[in-house]
Parts: sequence; structure tokens; C-alpha cells
Amino acid sequence: MDDSPASGITKRDFLHAAGCGLVGTALAVGTGCSAATGHHDEDRGDAVGNPSDKAVLWQRRMPIRYKADVAVIGGGIAGVSAACAAARSGAKVVLIERFAVTGGNMTAGGVGSFCGESAGQGEVFDEIIARLDQFGAVAPYKPYPDGDARIFNHEILAIVLQEMLLSRGVKLLLHTRFVDAIADNGRLTHCILCGKSGPEALCARQFIDCSGEADLARAAGFEIMKGRPEDGMQLPMSMMFFIRHVSAGDARAEVPESRFGKIEKREDLPMTSVWPNGPGGNAIKIKIPMFDSGDTESLTAAEIRARRRMMEVLDYYQRVEKKPWLLNHCSPMIGVREGRRVVGDYVLTVDDLRAGARFDDAVARGVFYLDGHKPDDDKRTYILPKDQLAVPPYQIPFRSLLARDGRNLLVAGRCFSADQLALSSARVSTTCAMMGQAAGIAAAKSALNDCDPRDLDYADVRREVVSRGARLEA
Ligand SMILES: Cc1cc2nc3c(=O)[nH]c(=O)nc-3n(C[C@H](O)[C@H](O)[C@H](O)COP(=O)(O)OP(=O)(O)OC[C@H]3O[C@@H](n4cnc5c(N)ncnc54)[C@H](O)[C@@H]3O)c2cc1C
Repeated sequence: MDDSPASGITKRDFLHAAGCGLVGTALAVGTGCSAATGHHDEDRGDAVGNPSDKAVLWQRRMPIRYKADVAVIGGGIAGVSAACAAARSGAKVVLIERFAVTGGNMTAGGVGSFCGESAGQGEVFDEIIARLDQFGAVAPYKPYPDGDARIFNHEILAIVLQEMLLSRGVKLLLHTRFVDAIADNGRLTHCILCGKSGPEALCARQFIDCSGEADLARAAGFEIMKGRPEDGMQLPMSMMFFIRHVSAGDARAEVPESRFGKIEKREDLPMTSVWPNGPGGNAIKIKIPMFDSGDTESLTAAEIRARRRMMEVLDYYQRVEKKPWLLNHCSPMIGVREGRRVVGDYVLTVDDLRAGARFDDAVARGVFYLDGHKPDDDKRTYILPKDQLAVPPYQIPFRSLLARDGRNLLVAGRCFSADQLALSSARVSTTCAMMGQAAGIAAAKSALNDCDPRDLDYADVRREVVSRGARLEA
């Protein structure tokens, strides 16, 4: 294939230039695409071959710059855990992260506490805690549910995760976005990445989707799901921002008059949580519901809305409550609790959680309550009545980390295969880390034994997960 735009291609078609060290990709971009709210994504290729004002064909040849046993897409807590675990197993691992730091919601998103059970999550998470502790950057351990939120310093977490990845030999690519995938009959062969060097390909034997949004599964054309069944609406997003305490003499209202909406009463605030953030500061979390993290324009609107809301909330505290607080900074990205999820061999349900489900192929465990807030309300309102939020410890089966439509795709973290309410518990960082470690172990085993994850002896995966410090009892 050559580099010039091909005419006559009528469907999305990834062409593999075998043996030449280059891959070519053909992408159709339609302006009439609908926001993905349901299951299968739109077929982006339909309009290609008939260039019009609705679609263009973009095609280029690019180098295969990276080759790995295991490719991990997304460097949140799940992705870091997966990459660290796979590397510990002896696999050659590449981790792709679109931001400047790994950690996802837990660093760039400004979240500063590990919810759920923070002991017995596996050796990767144990090392995260131990390294944070060396900085004096994590609160002492308390078992769940007494300690349901273990506070840490998210700036320190960013350096801890980075150093752990490097010490285990993971090839880390920052400022690098996963763009597309090449799959043949359910088998992924390459990812298309775009960093500052431009589009490049990554070839791997096993892939783990830790993007939080099922970006890899979606690009491969595998089935995905999102939100509540009736309309696809997601759990609300929240924005984290940070204030510093100043002396009464330095205190002032920072927000110019009539620039943003005015909030005069506490009950008119959106759901607002004020967290400790070291001496002399607080982290503040505000709820921003009713946006779609999987739609470019909706996510943009959410970020704009969140920063405006931040100004209104800041103004309320400074002007109405006379708090001696000044704005320090806002997280560079809004926090997304729920995005697209992969449909796996097994979809974990809220009924499984309520029953404290146990599985022969269990590889992770959750304990956190059903922290599912109403998708269409900015107050502290739950989907379920408060007396129905608690769940007993439950197990997560290996099958819910296996993309149903893929042969060599695992998934971990908040885009794993679960319904919305099951996710509202399992999305906490401790459980995401546990899933990540399990997916990393399984991907490395598959790559090193030249088989697919589905062909592994699940009991063997489970044994390895347990031997690496994960407590699975439910
Ligand atoms: C506001 C808020 C508060 C929360 N509070 C808590 C709490 O107190 N305690 C707790 O334990 N949990 C909390 N959670 C939940 C928890 O933070 C997340 O569910 C968890 O961190 C998810 O981890 P993850 O690795 O699955 O996903 P993410 O953290 O979303 O990580 C995904 C990573 O993939 C990267 N990525 C995405 N797409 C691409 C791409 N195309 N190419 C390259 N990289 C990509 C992202 O940049 C990101 O680094 C909170 C969540 C939110 C939003």
C-alpha cells in the first residue's frame, strides 16, 4: 500500500504491510457521528470512498516503533498495577499514557484517598503504599469499613508510580495517546499511538485496556456498554480544586462581581465535599452531572461547566462564609467515575455484589458500598435508598476482565465488565489496582506461554494472584 489517499475503499479497513516494518491505517471521520450512548459504536467507515462534506479518508504509513509482550493502554491506578505486575512476571511491557503523569484520576484528577480495603490488595498496591509511606505521604492503615478513605498526597503518588514503573523495567510513553487498533478476527496485532513524534505503531502479543473508557476495545470494534440501561446516562463527574488557608488580613473575595452565578445559601451549593489536603489547605470536590465522558463536545462542556461551578463555590465560601481561603489550583482534568465499559465473558452485576458472590475464577475482591449517585442530580442523592448501599465482600471473576469479542484483550479498572451499580463499588482505586495486578499477571502468562488469556488455567492465575499478596476471601 502506498501513502497516498486511496479511493474506492468502502469500509473501515486497516491494512497491514507485512514484513516491511510499517503499518498503514485508513480512518474515516464523519461529522454526522452520533454520541455513543449504546452498545456498538457507529461504523465510522460507511461514508468513506465517497468523499463528501460528511467524511474524509485519512491514511498513512507509519513505523512500528515499539514491540512488546504486553501493551497496557492507560496509566491510571489499574494500568500502572497491570504494567508493574506483567513486568514482575518477566514480560516486556509498554505502558501508554496520554498525560504527563501516570495515576489517572488519582493524580491528574486530584483524588486524594484510597477507598475500600487498602491492605491485601496485592504486592503492587503494597509497594505503592510502602513508597508513599517513605515520604510520609499516606495516612495510617485502618481496616475497612472503619477506614473507608485512606488519605494520601496525590503529587507524591505521581512520582511514586513513575519510579515503580521504571524500577520494574516498564517502557513508559507519556504524552502519548492511543488512537486506534488493528485487529484481525478478534486478535489485536497493533495499536496506533500518537505522541509528539507523530503517529507510530506498537506491536504486542497481549493487550490490556486500562483507559477507563474502553478506548481500545471500542477502536477494535468489540462490544462496549455505558451508563444506565434506559438512557446511557453515567454516574456524575466531579471536579477537584484546591485552596490554601491565609491569614485574616490576606483573605478576600477573589471572584469579580457578576462574572459568575452567585450562591447565597449552603443548600444551593452543588454536592461539595471538603477534604484535608496537608497543613494549611483543603481539597474541594464539586459534582458535575449529566455529561458524557465519551463524547468530545460533551466532555468539553463538562470541563467548562466545572470551572465555572468552581468559581461559584469559591465565591460562596469567600464572600458568604468569609473563609480565609484563596484558590491554589484546579485539577487539569475533570474526574470521571464512569465511562464506556467492555462487555466481557462475564458481566458482574449488582446482584452478585449483594449476594457476596464467589467465583471459581476469582482474581480480585471488592468491599466498598454501592457509591452510585444519581446521574441527573447535582445534590448528594443516591440511585438506591441509603439502607441498600452496603454490600458484603464480593469476588470479581477473571472472566469479567476478558473482552468477550477479543482473543488477546484483557481489561482492568473502571472500564471492566460490570453493570453500573456494580461499578459504583468496584471502581474505587483499591479494587482497580487489584484488577490491574490480575490482568497483568494473566497477560504476561499468556504472552510468555504463547497462548490466549482465555486458554490459561484460571486456577493457576488465581494461585499466582494470591501468591502475590491479594486477599480474595469473600
Ligand atoms: C471525583 C472522583 C472522586 C473519587 N474518589 C475516590 C476516592 O476517594 N477513593 C477511591 O479509591 N476512588 C475514588 N474515585 C474512583 C477512582 O479514582 C477511579 O475509579 C480509579 O482511579 C480508576 O482507575 P483507572 O485506572 O481504572 O482509570 P483512570 O484513573 O481513569 O485512568 C485511566 C488512564 O488512562 C489514560 N487514558 C485514557 N484514554 C487514553 C488514551 N486514548 N490514550 C492514552 N491514555 C489514555 C488516562 O489519562 C488515565 O491516566 C473517585 C473518582 C472520581 C472521578
